[in-house]
Amino acid sequence: MNVLPAFLRHGFAHGVHPEGFKERTADLPTQRMPFVERYVMPLNQHLGAPATPLVETGERVRRGQRIAEPGAFVSTSLHSPVTGRVTAIANRRFPGGVFARSIEIETDPYATQRLDPRPPVDWRNLTSEGFVSQVQHAGIVGMGGAAFPSHVKYSIPEGQRIDHLLVNGAECEPYLTNDHRLMVERPDALLRGIEIILHNLGAREATIGVELNKPDAITALESQLRPSQPISIVPLEVKYPQGAEKMLIKAIYDKEVPAGELPRDLGIAVNNVGTVVAIADWFETGVPLIERILTVSGPGVVNPSNLIVPLGTPVREVLNYCGGLKDEAIELVMGGPMMGMPIASLDVPVLKGTSGILAFTKIGDSRPREYPCIRCGRCLEACPYFLNPSRLARLAKARLYEEMNNYFVMDCVECGSCTYACPSRIPIVQLIRTAKSQLRQPGAADR
Ligand code: SF4
Ligand code: SF4
Repeated sequence: MNVLPAFLRHGFAHGVHPEGFKERTADLPTQRMPFVERYVMPLNQHLGAPATPLVETGERVRRGQRIAEPGAFVSTSLHSPVTGRVTAIANRRFPGGVFARSIEIETDPYATQRLDPRPPVDWRNLTSEGFVSQVQHAGIVGMGGAAFPSHVKYSIPEGQRIDHLLVNGAECEPYLTNDHRLMVERPDALLRGIEIILHNLGAREATIGVELNKPDAITALESQLRPSQPISIVPLEVKYPQGAEKMLIKAIYDKEVPAGELPRDLGIAVNNVGTVVAIADWFETGVPLIERILTVSGPGVVNPSNLIVPLGTPVREVLNYCGGLKDEAIELVMGGPMMGMPIASLDVPVLKGTSGILAFTKIGDSRPREYPCIRCGRCLEACPYFLNPSRLARLAKARLYEEMNNYFVMDCVECGSCTYACPSRIPIVQLIRTAKSQLRQPGAADR
């Protein structure tokens, strides 16, 4: 086994060191949240095309039943998180302040919520296409927050091959401890999931990258690892954004993914630990993606927790289960504080990509106003992609979006390191996000 910390060998340049605040939940075992009255499953809760409903209003559904099929190849299935009845297929609130077409399900209060028994899938005898189709059918996406359909990563173009599976256990976002708990509590499932993926991709080896602030996760994984397994556990420096795909590849393999290329062009597939466990669950027990682990934390929540939550559970119910919000709570974020999305309504549901729900207070997060740029260069030192965030922010403020292409704006992964480092509190990443969404609009190039 490779025991040399990756950062002693390679590491990655730039990045920031925000305070972790992980001690609030790192040692709290995961609890299963009880079922609630109503669930909302947006059809677009993954990247790519929205799913297409397979059910109608009024129809009875069983827990784990497929309720929507992929709308395209880059799309995936949805399954009912609960046994109940479809009450609507209509627009419902979605994180980010918009509405999205969703399947709303009312829970049957008399149902046992037991999953129907399903035979395991014979994963050793699948074709490549069969494996891809199984993962798409199970509705599995990147569980680290991106929600990119996993089967797309496993669909390898002719002439390419995957040699390395890189399992992302960095969890570098402050506050979040859901991946940490998964590695501590289910190391066996994680290793079995790796075995399934390695076999079906024909990859030679797997590496699990874990930041050094999770020593119990490293111990748990090492205790389950058999010498015959081609799997290394590599401790990583605690640094943000260590968990970004390209940073992780640099830290572990000392390889850079060129702009416009994908990890698979270097023969690498990257999966979050939650994704790998979801793969193990599907192939071994036939349970599709109907729930996930998330962290509820931040100074504004009464009882910080790590929870297993059915997808579609309204945020309001999750917070109620955690004792509610403190009076001082003024802001809610879905995901981590660096890359997460503010939540405008407590009605928004937990999605496949929801790694956390964080509540912030006035006291802990007082926000002084923005000051002019003092040309200090700290944002340049922080950017792991060697962009010029200060220049990008100036152009975005002037709405010179097309000109931002000359400064590689589309290479920005929106990690927020520049905003964190800026002493003038300029909302750089928010400005870049707006510019990118403008540039993605149809006809942007002509304008
Ligand atoms: S410019 Fe983009 S990639 Fe660079 S630090 Fe800022 S958010 Fe991260
Ligand atoms: S960190 Fe802020 S103040 Fe400093 S150069 Fe960048 S944008 Fe300007």
